[in-house]
Amino acid sequence: MAILKVSRMGHPVLRAKAQAVLPADIKSVRIQQLIDDMFETMAEYSGIGLAAPQVHEGLRIFVAGVRKGPVVTPMTDDVDMPFIAVINPEIVPVRPDIELGWEGCLSIPDIRGKVPRHEEVRVRAYDRTGRRIEFVASGLPARVVQHETDHLDGVLFFDRMTSFETLTFMDEFGRYWKEHSSEDDEDDEE
Ligand SMILES: [Zn+2]
Repeated sequence: MAILKVSRMGHPVLRAKAQAVLPADIKSVRIQQLIDDMFETMAEYSGIGLAAPQVHEGLRIFVAGVRKGPVVTPMTDDVDMPFIAVINPEIVPVRPDIELGWEGCLSIPDIRGKVPRHEEVRVRAYDRTGRRIEFVASGLPARVVQHETDHLDGVLFFDRMTSFETLTFMDEFGRYWKEHSSEDDEDDEE
């Protein structure tokens, strides 16, 4: 296991479209090692999501979650998101509803902003054992999977903001925004 270097905004790897992983390669030592290292890197930086381009790997893989346990569906705000490794994800909104919520990004340190996301999405992907998985996510888990899947297409959360009025540094976030926020995920980075 190793803690990997996190790419920061401005590095071209964050703007490139990542390549799909061949299903036959998922169980390879290289991919399994990468997934282990991504989980370790995410934990090191107290993240709740991390996509492969954020560790300089142009592959369609992300890891996410805050606790050990089985993947449940629907994955909601009611329980902490379980650790998942998601490969070649395809995301479709379940309902048209859009929710505005705070996001941060390990590749854009120290900054937060409010980003509109689909409130509920269906995710189809492979898990790290190479099995097809499908789950529904809403609330914060839905926000995380949309943020991470965007990374695989070279999209950063700034790109999704419809207004930059909420863009704030963490220090100012703590001083001027936190008390006005009902979210409990202000310190999470993706
Ligand atoms: Zn991010």
